[in-house]
Amino acid sequence: MARYIFITGGVVSSLGKGLASAALGALLQARGYTVRLRKLDPYLNVDPGTMSPFEHGEVFVTDDGAETDLDLGHYERFTGVSARRTDSISAGRVYSNVLEKERRGEYLGKTIQVIPHVTNEIKDFLSIGEDEVDFMLCEIGGTVGDIEGLPFFEAIRQFAQDLPRGQCIFMHLTLLPWLAASGELKTKPTQHSVKELRSIGIAPDILVCRSEQPIPETERAKIALFCNVRPDAVIPAYDLKSIYEAPLAYHRVGLDRAVLDAFRISPAPRPDLRRWEDVLDRLNNAEGEVRIAVVGKYTRLEDAYKSISEALTHGGMANRVRVQAEWIDSELLEGEEGIHRLDGFHGIVVPGGFGERGTEGMIAAATYAREKKVPYLGICLGMQLAVVEAARNLAGIEDAGSEEFDHEAGAVRFTPVVYHLKEWVQGNHKVERKITDDKGGTMRLGAYTAVLAPGSKISEVYGGATEIEDRHRHRYEIDARYRDRLEEAGLLFSGMSPDGRLPEAVELRDHPWFIGVQSHPELKSKPFEPAPLFADFVRAAKELERMV
Ligand code: GLN
Repeated sequence: MARYIFITGGVVSSLGKGLASAALGALLQARGYTVRLRKLDPYLNVDPGTMSPFEHGEVFVTDDGAETDLDLGHYERFTGVSARRTDSISAGRVYSNVLEKERRGEYLGKTIQVIPHVTNEIKDFLSIGEDEVDFMLCEIGGTVGDIEGLPFFEAIRQFAQDLPRGQCIFMHLTLLPWLAASGELKTKPTQHSVKELRSIGIAPDILVCRSEQPIPETERAKIALFCNVRPDAVIPAYDLKSIYEAPLAYHRVGLDRAVLDAFRISPAPRPDLRRWEDVLDRLNNAEGEVRIAVVGKYTRLEDAYKSISEALTHGGMANRVRVQAEWIDSELLEGEEGIHRLDGFHGIVVPGGFGERGTEGMIAAATYAREKKVPYLGICLGMQLAVVEAARNLAGIEDAGSEEFDHEAGAVRFTPVVYHLKEWVQGNHKVERKITDDKGGTMRLGAYTAVLAPGSKISEVYGGATEIEDRHRHRYEIDARYRDRLEEAGLLFSGMSPDGRLPEAVELRDHPWFIGVQSHPELKSKPFEPAPLFADFVRAAKELERMV
């Protein structure tokens, strides 16, 4: 049975709980253990699929088609363990399950309450797969004291009681604010946050304290005393230049050692940290720099394209070059003047997105990349718009567009070379959709296979592979009926679904590097295993950089 580590946060949000959890997972792996990471989110959305990227950052999609919190992306990037639908749960999902059961009569005769019905639902979820790994790391979103979080804190308190002694620990992240005026590091907010936690029955075993300043021994001892944890279980966490320093940085300050001590695992297996040393070596010893323009719509919030930005970094590591990614609001590219903002970049990425706003700027970016022979990587919407671009400017379908935009506008304005997908095959069953369906969880989601044309650029990028699998999240699809016409015009359909009906990848014939994919290869990219498309895209950008 797995040992459980519950990770909570206090004082303020955005302390890097997800990153600390992911780094701890990586460190336990380095000591030879198997891990799984899980996220419990107290918000009432059933999943983050319906939230704006501006509000919640990117939606991370799992192989089995769940739309989840972006922290699951961190978990995968640090541990390489593919997340599953059951690794992410929100209060909305929990309540919706409970209410469904109530309607089915599963609790017949009972009054449904937060304790025990909601808490039991959370506990059932926590125990899924408990025999599969050595350590289960469960992060609770938000901070202690949030109203929505209470059922989750109560559930983990009960869960710990149900487990055999010594099978579970609590790790709490807090902040030590620095008062510049008095030159002091303050521990009081941490004390209060631990007090809050203890008032609901949870005594932390480990405190991870974020601080901008070095934490003196005296302060560490004070925190230990006032918060009732051992001094060596007070772990300082300082700001890092790169998130990929986190595993080694946490190891240096003794996080993994403290965790194993708390479980009384002795002697602790020696860690093998070579993977992370190599990652840091690649990061710190890069030569030169390539400038990549990411032309999208959600450029105001960095987290909105988290996996794209990480995958580009990984691509840089693969080529030992620094990637300077710049986020450009596509609306700024619309018009003669605007497009020159792309001058001087060595590569252009048009990432995924929804809705019409800004798409003309993305299409202009595709035209620019095609004409100037700048490497272009189109992802999902970025592929759909590359096809629209080719349809308009190479195949003479001047009013080519996506049905998505007509649906949004409630008017027919375009020839839909991208149309609303109404049925497709997943595994061995048929999925059907109507435009009037619910919005949540109804897209084509999760891992699908693409069959690659032998000899195509994309097949070469994947080392000659003829089949690849990547994760999808979209409602619209390129209409294969335009294939012949577009291929004649120079846009090859280099990847198709196994039944040959859905275009999965396109590329320009007369271009050094112009590829669009319907999937999101960035979601599977890891620092120690970069997504091939990103690695090769950065390689092509580096080549261009060397030429000019
Ligand atoms: N909006 C497009 C669709 O639904 C593209 C989605 C995406 O880029 N993830 O098909």
